[in-house]
Amino acid sequence: MTNEELKSAIAACDCPECRALTGLLNEAGAKLQISTVRGGRFCEMAVVAAAGERGLPAGDIVPRRRRYAEHLGIQLSGNTQNDDKPNHIMWATKHSNHHPDASDPGGRINLGLARAVERDGSFFLTWTSSDKPRFVKVPFYVEQDGGKTLFLPSLATTSGFWIGPKGEERCVPNYWDALNEVSAMSTPRFRRENAAGNRGIVACKAGDVEEVKASYIERLIGQLGND
Ligand SMILES: [Zn+2]
Repeated sequence: MTNEELKSAIAACDCPECRALTGLLNEAGAKLQISTVRGGRFCEMAVVAAAGERGLPAGDIVPRRRRYAEHLGIQLSGNTQNDDKPNHIMWATKHSNHHPDASDPGGRINLGLARAVERDGSFFLTWTSSDKPRFVKVPFYVEQDGGKTLFLPSLATTSGFWIGPKGEERCVPNYWDALNEVSAMSTPRFRRENAAGNRGIVACKAGDVEEVKASYIERLIGQLGND
């Protein structure tokens, strides 16, 4: 097995350790070497990360690291890779990119956003992906009473989102596609229900957009029960 094959296998696997390792590399931006002959470090990071906020008791780490290496079909050989103590994660709690004062820069583990911590006999390797919330620009229409009606997933009909001017109106099933199309219009137009319950086309003023958290929109889409 080549290192590239190993990386693809990890990316494709649904087990908690492979998912945690993929998150650690892609979300947290950790720089871990994924290698068939130097598996000790990344396997140990994967099993601790997989425990998430629960943490992993020190005594469970080595057996899990070995089991995970077996799962991947790689050998952990030599004192460093196959240590009887959880030395990789212990090292990471003191010598990571979060410790600029650590004396040995070459030995530091770059964990990206993730932090390695020991607490009450357990180890934790966690990060938060909400450090930088993503915002999207959403056009809005100012109603007669001054309230704003934003082009949000809550405007969905059973067939999707009705956008565009009278005569050229079309229905877009997917919210994100609809938002892209509406945002590209010089005068964004969409159909919405007014306070009296009538569905009418409204025209937004160019530049009337509000920054909305993408996670909020995703939550609204989830409540609709469509994709
Ligand atoms: Zn796996």
